[in-house]
Amino acid sequence: MTRRSILALTFCIVHSTSLWAWAEHPLLVRPALEGLELWEEVDSVEAKSLVGFLEETASDLFVFLEKHELWARENLKDYRSRPYELQLDTSLTGEDLRASFLRAVRMNPESKIPLYLHLLPGEMVDEEVRADPTGISIFDNLSRERQTVYLQLRAGQQVHPLDVLVTANDEPDYGFDIGLFEDNGTSHGAVYGFGNQPFGNPNLANSSQGPFHMAFYQEPAVVYAVAPFLDNSLLESRLFLFRALAKFAFSEGQDYWGWRFLGWSMHYAGDLSMPFHSNPLPGYSVFEMVRSQLSALRGNDNLQRNMIQLVSNRHMALEAYQLAELREAHLKRDENHPFLIALRADYELPEFDSDFARKVASVHAAKQADEMSSAVRRAMPDRFVNDPQTEARFLPELLEMNAVVRAYASPEDLDDLNREIAKRFEDFAVNVRTVLFSVLGDQ
Ligand SMILES: [Zn+2]
Repeated sequence: MTRRSILALTFCIVHSTSLWAWAEHPLLVRPALEGLELWEEVDSVEAKSLVGFLEETASDLFVFLEKHELWARENLKDYRSRPYELQLDTSLTGEDLRASFLRAVRMNPESKIPLYLHLLPGEMVDEEVRADPTGISIFDNLSRERQTVYLQLRAGQQVHPLDVLVTANDEPDYGFDIGLFEDNGTSHGAVYGFGNQPFGNPNLANSSQGPFHMAFYQEPAVVYAVAPFLDNSLLESRLFLFRALAKFAFSEGQDYWGWRFLGWSMHYAGDLSMPFHSNPLPGYSVFEMVRSQLSALRGNDNLQRNMIQLVSNRHMALEAYQLAELREAHLKRDENHPFLIALRADYELPEFDSDFARKVASVHAAKQADEMSSAVRRAMPDRFVNDPQTEARFLPELLEMNAVVRAYASPEDLDDLNREIAKRFEDFAVNVRTVLFSVLGDQ
């Protein structure tokens, strides 16, 4: 395969128009964690602003970040080193120190990170204590977030660690990883040292988050040979950085930030249980991927465009279905719902080590992605999942996708779809609990 064709593949072969994996992680994380015995033993913690945390820990944090950088260079495959100039500047205070920290961990400089809690459907609070999503997320389109109730917190308020953890699990989807690559045309991307965006379209802001929230660790060697960029995800660097920051914060007696960083780390482990984030093209064989690429190189890219559009539509439809279904299950407190049963169940946890993302967390989702794709196609109407002329994310029915699916699918197809999703939610529960205990166990 020529250099030109590899470049063409870079832009085409991965769909990454959908921003989220398992949109609204708190709906999954709370049932996955709330039954754990450890909550009986933990004390509530005092909410503290990010600036407060940084001002109290700056010099130790500087040392920690330098050590972690060396660890990442030695232990993470394809790690993209942080340039020296981005070191934390401990002479700063206030907002300047906060900005220096966001540079040192290479997050989007607009990241908001206020004090708040993410409530679940049915948990209501008075209007005047609600936090507005525009103060939480950097995105303009907040239609998803507007269906969620956020509660404002003040510095010094006591909060339960589980509430902090559940809230933090959604935060990496509020813009942390947007525009960080050199070819994204942002001033921070130009200096962060992440190089060019390995896959997806660098000109679409939403797509720039993809390589931090998707990872294709389970492809056959032939796929990496023709498309090496597929083995070039930044997800691990995030999971391990925030996990290490959690350990650092706990070791400094900064428990609120220990739980919050831990939640950020868990987000990335949770994403790996989503088949459309662990497999570049669920439902298509290697042969079909290569054939579409060869056809594109001969001047006919219809096959490839259709393939990407269909995968993107199926991804959107699956996200919309699980979100609507989980929201309803929480609202009705439906303890017999198969998703909640899968999330709450007891599981034996694997060992955690530096290969966790690659060799454990992503395995089932990637290898059984075809089964998920097939279940989605059978249970959903063609316009959502089998029509490449449709851009499914613009279909208004997505908001009530569970009603659409119930009206359309046969009882067998509906059961199959729910079973496939429930299996991945088992992985989700295992992944987030494994990261949680990998930190708490070390304390
Ligand atoms: Zn994500």
